[in-house]
Amino acid sequence: MALTGVLGALGCLQAVRAEAAAERLPNFVVIFADDQGYGDVGCYGARDFSTPRLDRMAAEGVRLTDFYVAGPVCTPSRAGLMTGCYPKRLGLAYRVLFPYSKTGLNPDEITIAEILKTRGYATACIGKWHLGHHAKFLPTRQGFDVFFGTPYSNDMNGQHYKEQDFKAPALPLIRQEKVVEEDPDQRYLTRRYTEESIRFMEANKDRPFFLYLPHNMPHRPIHASERFKGKTKHGLYGDVIEEIDWSVGEILGALKRLGIDERTLVIFTTDNGPVLLRAKRLGYRPGSAGPLRGMKNTTWEGGMRVPCVMRWPGKIPGGTVCEELVTAMDVLPTIAKLAGAEAPKDRIIDGKDVWPVVCGKAGVRSPHEAFYYYRDDRLQAVRSGWWKLHVFRPEWEASSGHAPLLHDLKVDVGERTDVAGEHAEVVKRLQGLAERAREDLGDAATNRSGKNVRPVGE
Ligand code: MG
Repeated sequence: MALTGVLGALGCLQAVRAEAAAERLPNFVVIFADDQGYGDVGCYGARDFSTPRLDRMAAEGVRLTDFYVAGPVCTPSRAGLMTGCYPKRLGLAYRVLFPYSKTGLNPDEITIAEILKTRGYATACIGKWHLGHHAKFLPTRQGFDVFFGTPYSNDMNGQHYKEQDFKAPALPLIRQEKVVEEDPDQRYLTRRYTEESIRFMEANKDRPFFLYLPHNMPHRPIHASERFKGKTKHGLYGDVIEEIDWSVGEILGALKRLGIDERTLVIFTTDNGPVLLRAKRLGYRPGSAGPLRGMKNTTWEGGMRVPCVMRWPGKIPGGTVCEELVTAMDVLPTIAKLAGAEAPKDRIIDGKDVWPVVCGKAGVRSPHEAFYYYRDDRLQAVRSGWWKLHVFRPEWEASSGHAPLLHDLKVDVGERTDVAGEHAEVVKRLQGLAERAREDLGDAATNRSGKNVRPVGE
């Protein structure tokens, strides 16, 4: 064969390969529990209930020990996951959205789903959204082909909000943009979302898809179906987690059955830490942040460090543990890269591509020089390496000029021992990083507006 013929044949082969590769873009499944604590998974130390499917997922993939969400409550955390940005940048850091709220995730922001649409993905959000319940903010307007779920939290049903003098409607269950049920029986939400998710994967098994499955559970009020209720030594909360674990098993089983297991990255994590009120007040025995201090709605580790397991057979080595700092904001640039898509370049994105980190490539360190802990619109703490500096605590508000607290998370993950006095140079360095965040993102605690914040959706 003449050289030109060989080259032509090679070129042709390359084109075919490129086409085949394009056809085999990976699928992405992100399972997002609500208010499930760092200690509420078997392989993170849970006792009195078990999560064998999540534990197996970790044994077949990677378990992250230092994974952070972008905010300690539902709306900010979800904003960070969906856009790869600090919620403060998006105007969504303050508390959460309520049924009386007029704002939402700005439709001009670019979500993971919108990025994947540019690569021909089928996209679904099945579960709790909480980034704006008005039609213009719903998942269907933010890159998702399919939405089935609640627009906000499952406790926002019919209650009267005093400060706004607003009576919320019954909890809506929405399909696409239409309310199809009011006050759905919450015992069956986990199961229904699971079944709906499996139907979506079956319908799209021959093309790349993105399934975002943000469960309502175990956010208060918690419910489990009859099959799980009363089954654990822990009580109802344990039953609820075991049902979520069952759901994870169903999703993984469906991927195997459909023959797409080996081209699907599955991520399991949760939106913020657990609610650790007394059982008497909660009505059930609470979950756990394991060895971490604090709970949901705090910037102690227990509020923002959450369990996270990732699995992709053949790509992520099984049974590995990643101790590098990774955040929920990294999911967007990482997924974009894996799908051969561009992360947005016309704006600041805080997340980084962490694929080499979670794959356990030797010597690969976290790309984050600093991680910022915001609660509402206040910068409360900064982590760099193993050091964490608390620069503002709500309990300091009354006093003036409180000295910052420094913790060495490597030896003091429970944040019990302040070592600021022994490490003046570390304090100074982290204060410098905190100052950088105030400049960039703003900080109500020091009256800073932030030069790179973008408008909330109105
Ligand atoms: Mg939550």
